[in-house]
Amino acid sequence: MEGGDGAGKSTQAQRLAAALQETGRTVLRTREPGGTPVGEQLRALVLEHGNGEIDARTEALIFAASRAAHVQQVIEPALAAGTVVVCDRYVDSSIAYQGAGRQLGTEAVRTLNEWATGGLEPDLTVLLDVEPERGRDRRTAGDAAEDRLESEPDAFHLQIRLAFLEAAQAAPGRYLVLDAGRPVDELAETILRRVEKLLP
Ligand code: C5P
Repeated sequence: MEGGDGAGKSTQAQRLAAALQETGRTVLRTREPGGTPVGEQLRALVLEHGNGEIDARTEALIFAASRAAHVQQVIEPALAAGTVVVCDRYVDSSIAYQGAGRQLGTEAVRTLNEWATGGLEPDLTVLLDVEPERGRDRRTAGDAAEDRLESEPDAFHLQIRLAFLEAAQAAPGRYLVLDAGRPVDELAETILRRVEKLLP
C-alpha cells in the first residue's frame, strides 16, 4: 500500500487484511518503516531526528536497512508459509521520499533498495494517489507526532506524488492506482476485488 502522507494507506491496509482474513486466509499486516524490533527502532530514530538532523543519504540508508531486516525476518518467511502479506509502504516510498523528495535520484534509491530487498517485489502495489493539499488536511486531522514532514511545503509533497505516479506508469500491470479522495468503502471494495484475482 503506497501513497503520500494522508492518503489513507493504513486504513486501507487494515480493511484489506480484515476482509482477506474473513475469507479464511492467513494474512500478515505489517508496515514500513518498522515491521521488526530493529526496524521499529530505526523508524523511531528517523522520526525523532526528522528536523534536518539526518542528511538525505543517511536517511535513505536507514530506511533501506529497516527494509532489509523486514524482508528477511518477516516478509520472506511469511510468504514461504503461504501467508498473504499486506504491507503499508515499501520500496516506492523510498524512491518517492528520498529519491525525489530529498533529491537523491530515483534510480540510485531504486538500486540501493533492490540490493536491500534481494529484488523482492510486491505482486501488487496499490497506489493511493493524493493531492498534496488534500493530504495536508487529512494529516492535520491525524497523528501529528508521526508526521515528520508536516512542515514541508506542498511542492515537496507534489514531487513525491509525481514519483509515485511515475513508478506506477513504468510497470502498469503491477499497480492499482486509485484516487485517495474516493469514499473509504468504495476504495476497500475495489482493492479487495483486485487482490482476490491474484490469489489462488
Ligand atoms: O508510513 P508513515 O506515514 O507512518 O511514515 C512515517 C513518516 O515517515 C511519514 O512522515 C512519511 O512521510 C515518512 N517517510 C519518509 N520516507 C520513507 C517512508 C516514510 O520520509 N521512505
